[in-house]
Amino acid sequence: MKKIIVANLKMNLVLKFELDRWIKNFLQQRQNVSFNKTEIVICTPALHLDNFVKELKSFDVKIGAQDCFWERKGSYTGGVSATAVKSLGGEYVILGHSERRKYFGETNEIISLKLKTSTSVGLKSILCVGETMEERKKDLTGQVLNRQLSDCLNNFPQGRLDKLLLCYEPIWAISSNDPVAPPTTDEIMTARLMIKKMLVRKYGAKLAEKIKILYGGSVNQRNIEEVCLNSGMDGVLVGKASLVPNEFLGIVKRIK
Ligand code: 13P
Repeated sequence: MKKIIVANLKMNLVLKFELDRWIKNFLQQRQNVSFNKTEIVICTPALHLDNFVKELKSFDVKIGAQDCFWERKGSYTGGVSATAVKSLGGEYVILGHSERRKYFGETNEIISLKLKTSTSVGLKSILCVGETMEERKKDLTGQVLNRQLSDCLNNFPQGRLDKLLLCYEPIWAISSNDPVAPPTTDEIMTARLMIKKMLVRKYGAKLAEKIKILYGGSVNQRNIEEVCLNSGMDGVLVGKASLVPNEFLGIVKRIK
């Protein structure tokens, strides 16, 4: 089974020359890397999506957005339309990232609406869940994950579960939040098991089996083995390390 390696470029590559340099370096270094064992997804700032599709799609790279609105079109100033993402050639979208929750006021209810829309237009949708350091210290991780999953997946159509991916991304492990270290292999395996159990309870073993689970938070080429390969995750969501193509492709290279 291919591992899914997703870059979340966040609100970076903001200058035109940074964007051009990233694409140039990626394409140059991509020649030395086999994508046989991986599916590569680059989630770009919405403004760059068209550009990335044109430059990278023919090199076995899938493109995605970092958010989309729950309405497909209309008078929603500044909104990113899932239909537009799909129509421009995007195949993925990240939803419910902790930074969207923190800075843009997204609630589980909002994320639930967005998930229904994004999957209805055929976008593979990566739902992010994870606990804060405070919640972890109080041993509330299971409860937090349970609440996020049950609220975000409230009334989610079972026929579209093949479009759903989950990402366990503990907020305290995200590099911009100054983590001491990412969770250990055992901790990630425990979180994976908790998520699996919840999905099996909700959808039954056969349907739950279809849902891929990724890990996110301070992933780099030195820890990919512990956080993904040894923990049995189906892939990773990479923030900071994706800003340097060499580093990002270094992660891909380690998946053999
Ligand atoms: P870092 O890889 O920089 O910790 O970011 C993780 C993340 O937020 C990916 O969505």
